[in-house]
Amino acid sequence: MDGELVEWRDAKIHVLSHTLHYGCGAFEGVRAYKTAQGPAIFRLREHTERLFNSAKILRMKIPFTLEQVMDAQKTVVRENQLESGYIRPLTWIGSQKLGVSPKGNTIHLMVAAWTWGAYLGEEGLKRGIRVKTSSYTRHHVNITMTQAKAVSNYTNSILANMEVTEEGYDEALLLDASGFVSEGAGENIFIIKNGVVYTPDLSAGALNGITRNTIFHIAKDLGLEVVQKRITRDEVYIADEAFFTGTAAEVTPIRELDRIEIGAGSRGPITEKIQAAFFDIVNGRNPQYAEWLDHV
Ligand code: PMP
Repeated sequence: MDGELVEWRDAKIHVLSHTLHYGCGAFEGVRAYKTAQGPAIFRLREHTERLFNSAKILRMKIPFTLEQVMDAQKTVVRENQLESGYIRPLTWIGSQKLGVSPKGNTIHLMVAAWTWGAYLGEEGLKRGIRVKTSSYTRHHVNITMTQAKAVSNYTNSILANMEVTEEGYDEALLLDASGFVSEGAGENIFIIKNGVVYTPDLSAGALNGITRNTIFHIAKDLGLEVVQKRITRDEVYIADEAFFTGTAAEVTPIRELDRIEIGAGSRGPITEKIQAAFFDIVNGRNPQYAEWLDHV
């Protein structure tokens, strides 16, 4: 926390913190995986770069270097003696002064890490999850900025997720302001039709997911074409396969959207191959991607 190792119970902030009131802050979700050579953080540099880019978009100046923030993430995994886990860096605006203008406040940074299993359940990874299109629209690209992993963007995600999970679904799918498929509440979406992999282009307001990018590499290795384009919700209904990607969600098959079964209504064969390739990479079993793993 602000450059010091702090015990969990002492990692506190003031109730008048600017970010707590107005929601301007940025964060990351990063994972460390167990490998044969010990715990390793997956695509640490890319996540840390995205954190700095999010802060830049939000006009916040992180008072540390990229290297320091990368080191902090390794330190937290090491000091907590985690074999694997989730890492949460967050930068926020301090408590010297309230009012919408953040000027005059200090920018803070913290990194926490803890053990976290499959975000949408182990069962979800194997069998696929049930998704519903949310009635909430995903952010338009010119509102709170969709390429920033901004704290405030997640009110939209929370509303969508709560709306559909209260009805018994596992996760929400959000459409953009024009009605095209954007992303899940905390995941990017992919569909497969006739052997081609499709995902919304970023103009649909989806986050430029690092797992999304990892899928591009995996698809290429498997000889699959990936097309980024506008996607309608009914294209998802009639897709052969669909899956969500994210650092927390990893590669989670979607077996149903709006009570319509996708393909055979289970994890599809191409999804299964992509998922297996993903877990080989993150767990250090594919030497081709060794440079994506930062050993702590
Ligand atoms: N979209 C949203 C809204 C997310 O919260 C996440 C998780 N960070 C993603 C997509 C996937 O991004 P990544 O693969 O970089 O975790």
